[in-house]
Amino acid sequence: ASAAPQPARLIGDTPRGGSVLSFYSPRGAARPPRVGRGEGVWLWDADGRRYLDATAGAVVANIGHGNRHVIAAMQAQAERVSFAYPRFFESEHNIALADRLCALAGEGFDRAFFVSGGSEANESALKLARQYAVVTGQAGRWKVISRDPSYHGSTLGALAVTGDAHTQAIYGPMVKPMPKVPAPLSYRLPEGHTAESYAMACADALERTIEQEGPETVLAFILEPIGGLSTGAVVSPAAYFQRVRQICERHGVLLIYDEIMSGAGRTGEFLAAHHWPGARPDLVTLAKGLAAGYTPLGCLLAPARIVDAVAGAGGFVHGHTYFTNPMSCAIANAVMDEVERLDLVARARERGVGLRRRLEAVAARSPLVGDVRGLGLFSAIELVADKATRRSLPADFNAPARLTEHGLRHGIALYNRRANLGAFGDFQMITPPLTISEPELDELVDRLGRALDDLADEVVR
Ligand code: PLP
Repeated sequence: ASAAPQPARLIGDTPRGGSVLSFYSPRGAARPPRVGRGEGVWLWDADGRRYLDATAGAVVANIGHGNRHVIAAMQAQAERVSFAYPRFFESEHNIALADRLCALAGEGFDRAFFVSGGSEANESALKLARQYAVVTGQAGRWKVISRDPSYHGSTLGALAVTGDAHTQAIYGPMVKPMPKVPAPLSYRLPEGHTAESYAMACADALERTIEQEGPETVLAFILEPIGGLSTGAVVSPAAYFQRVRQICERHGVLLIYDEIMSGAGRTGEFLAAHHWPGARPDLVTLAKGLAAGYTPLGCLLAPARIVDAVAGAGGFVHGHTYFTNPMSCAIANAVMDEVERLDLVARARERGVGLRRRLEAVAARSPLVGDVRGLGLFSAIELVADKATRRSLPADFNAPARLTEHGLRHGIALYNRRANLGAFGDFQMITPPLTISEPELDELVDRLGRALDDLADEVVR
């Protein structure tokens, strides 16, 4: 009887359906372990087993878990005030955080608007762009071009610009269809292209789409400068970003960088945009690493010319109950203190080199790793059936989900994506906390290698 399956370990099989996961996971999926505590790059489950957080959760925990400075700041702010509605009260932490982020983002970013996460930040960017067009006599501009594949969030407005066939198939009738252009690939390229030539073809597709739609109807172009679960850390050539900037300028289209994953230091610059100085965006969104999982927080950075035009015409017609939340801003300030004190942006750059070297060694050993890519500590490996032909594993094999399961058994937490993206394939993000040490990087690749070996055994079978 002791060998009988444990029904309570399957999502949806408990009398009340379990937790929020019963909404998120298919019925009958295996239940993940229950988290107990976290410290540094490690998480422990309630039974005391230890897991290396190799992807900082969903690319969130940039400063690692259990940071004492942040915990102290959280407690201090809670003793003072947790909530004060921003229409009635300003908060010193909001002002300090806005100043700090604008300074870090650099020229052209003078104002910050704080919300509760990435989707809300992108909604804010799209609505600010639209209101700016309206108040500057360009009310005909409303279309937002985006890339396919892309991910910009789960709310219906953010889904309208997300390039993802699966969610479009479900929510398509409820979202405004917005024009899409291809995102540059780097690994499985169309016939006759190099990564560089294909990236330029993708930029040219943007110009053609603007012209076909009518430039006077196009409001903005939104892209993840380096995609996370959309493209799996594909890094496009500088010339692509420069051409995109020129095309947007030529047609009066606002350029929005979604840096919800790539921002806050992860790529070895505070913004990924800083890697391509000649190609600056007009608006930038941040979330995830900004508060590093210590509180939900998103942010829109914008230039004074846009914000002031809207403010002069009555103010931004947009907001949420928790916008500019004093508790969240206090926590993010403490996170940014740690980013500065520990020099984590430079650390991401340096550790990124060591991670890359180790992942290439993993790829040389494992029959399943066809590509290693990324920048700083924002990287991914692509899983393939055959390295020579670069063929993906069958979609119904669901290699990423299997790899996650093997990873949990080997004490490593792995966030990844199954290939419903055609040419972009199955990939595994490798995006540890920026605080990771060199010995911990060794642990990471050791555990990852063992999970990949188990996966390879299943493929052969
Ligand atoms: N944009 C990008 C690039 C993301 O990776 C995500 C989340 O994964 C979002 C937007 C949405 O952010 P959130 O889940 O905080 O709403």
